[in-house]
Amino acid sequence: MNSRQKVMLILIGLFLTFFISMVVIITVNFRDFGMHGAEKRALLTAEVVKGGLTAHMVNGMMDKRSYFLSQIENIENIHAIWIARSPIVIKQFGEGMNNEIARDEIDKQVLQTGKIAKEMTETTTKSTLRMTIPFVASAFGTPNCLRCHDAKEGDVLGAVSMVIDVSDVRGSSFSTVGYISAIAIIIMLIILLVVNKFLKPYLNIFYSIKEVMTAAYDGNYSKRVDGGKLFESKAVADMLNSLLSKLQKVFDEIDNKVYIFLRNKNKSNNYDPLININNTINQLSDIYKFKQTIEHDEELQDIYERLAYVFSNKFNIEDFSIIEADRLSGMKTIVYTTKGCHCTVEDGVCRADRINLIVDSTIFDKTCDKFLEDEESEYLCIPYSISNELNLIISIVTRTKEEGTRIRNLVGMIEDYVATAQPAIVSKKLMQILNKMARIDQLTGMFNRKYLDEFAETSIPQALRTETPYGVLMIDIDFFKMINDTYGHDVGDEGIRIVSRVIKDSIRKSDIAIRFGGEEFIVLLYNCNREYLREVAEKIRVNFAKQVISAGNESFSKTLSVGAVMFPDDSESIWKCIKYADMSLYYAKEHGRNQVVVYDPEIIKDASMKDQF
Ligand code: GH3
Ligand code: MG
Ligand code: MG
Repeated sequence: MNSRQKVMLILIGLFLTFFISMVVIITVNFRDFGMHGAEKRALLTAEVVKGGLTAHMVNGMMDKRSYFLSQIENIENIHAIWIARSPIVIKQFGEGMNNEIARDEIDKQVLQTGKIAKEMTETTTKSTLRMTIPFVASAFGTPNCLRCHDAKEGDVLGAVSMVIDVSDVRGSSFSTVGYISAIAIIIMLIILLVVNKFLKPYLNIFYSIKEVMTAAYDGNYSKRVDGGKLFESKAVADMLNSLLSKLQKVFDEIDNKVYIFLRNKNKSNNYDPLININNTINQLSDIYKFKQTIEHDEELQDIYERLAYVFSNKFNIEDFSIIEADRLSGMKTIVYTTKGCHCTVEDGVCRADRINLIVDSTIFDKTCDKFLEDEESEYLCIPYSISNELNLIISIVTRTKEEGTRIRNLVGMIEDYVATAQPAIVSKKLMQILNKMARIDQLTGMFNRKYLDEFAETSIPQALRTETPYGVLMIDIDFFKMINDTYGHDVGDEGIRIVSRVIKDSIRKSDIAIRFGGEEFIVLLYNCNREYLREVAEKIRVNFAKQVISAGNESFSKTLSVGAVMFPDDSESIWKCIKYADMSLYYAKEHGRNQVVVYDPEIIKDASMKDQF
């Protein structure tokens, strides 16, 4: 119920209370007034009857009293009139010719008590007043009652009862109430109309303000207050409307200006621009903190772990992997995973990377054949282009529909974080490439001596701890100087490249090939035994001997010699092992070249003593 209805209801209530009270008061007053009038008439009639009867009595015409009484009965509004003699009179004069005895209980009561009795009878059509008035004996009146009656002073001699019609009083009471009601209703309607007319515009502006403010509270600032026609309400409405316009404009501007800093399309679609701005600023603030943190991270892996922390702790993603996809080499590297990667991406093929679009198993079942089948899981692989050479794939696996929907709604936010990390990833990648370049020999693409120094410092102690044996080969081309001397330096370089290719083709991925200097190479064979040591060395020697080196119109083949040592069997110092490998190589050179010599402390010692090695 609105305020106007309430005011109207209160007014109507007040009017009805007033009206009912008025009707009741008028009715009661009219009734009392009618009753008093009727009573007075009855008393007067009783006096007339008493006087008449006395006159009849004194004149000795008591037998004519019936006529007298019927005449009185004819008076308007007197329905009936009768006389009742008291037992004293009956005893003295009898019941009289018209059986003037008490007709009912009221008569008897009045004759007994000497008090007036009255009774009102009301039906729907008629109102009557029955009144019984006693005649009391008195010696002081004229004539003296006691002169004729055998009675004492104060005895009741008889009573006159009459029924008077008082309907006319009731009728006029009803018509008065009717007139007053009609006038009251007309006045009430006029007052209601006037109040309504004056109240309406004020209430209307309140309703309009309420409606507009409710919408503004919910974030909709586009509604405007209707000021109506009154000057005051128009002024209030204009002020409020201009304030609302200003707010709407400012919120829209702030929202749009702040939002452009976010790269994702994940703008919160709340209807309230204030909430939108707040959400956008919160997102920006979180991303800014993330950006500041990763700027101080030293290693690329730290950045990946920081991204993973955001995915796990901020977005509550439980099962995901971050995969580096090198576009040049085609290599895929899992750089972070929570529960292990659920696909065989490391074999070099990734659909998301290839098509550079999100691969989503909910859109098409079995979209990617690399995913290791699991009926309850859904996967979402999102590729992000970090640089021309590098893509980052975020592969997320979900197990419930709700989780899947939630994660899919987060894609924009994930993109924001990856985009924020992108410059740091690119610069760290560049650093990695530069570092790698500094450790790579330009002619052969093999690691250089600098790498060997670092490897000896960082990985060898670890190999000792984990008791991982390495085979150490030192390889040198036989009579290489002759190539340079005969065919020139370029042909010599080609010879060096051929050896390096033969070496790379003869070892596993886990083995490390180093150009130690000139045409000398060191190979570190991971997790090696003596058999494998000799086997690989022989393979390199034999394969190189088969190579044909072209020099203009001519071509020729060369051989090489190998010294081989087992780390840490022969020495726990890698540098000592390298020295033993060198000594073994020297031994091979001394003993005819084109051969593999595995270090034997007894033999090599002798040889070294002889040759002052
Ligand atoms: P040996 O069988 O005793 O090893 O005889 P050798 O002639 O191979 O002797 P040595 O290993 O000492 O020869 C090294 C030569 O390799 C000396 C140098 O001219 C040549 N050399 C070193 N580095 C390079 C290079 O980068 N390119 C070319 N073309 N020659 C190089
Ligand atoms: Mg040589
Ligand atoms: Mg040499």
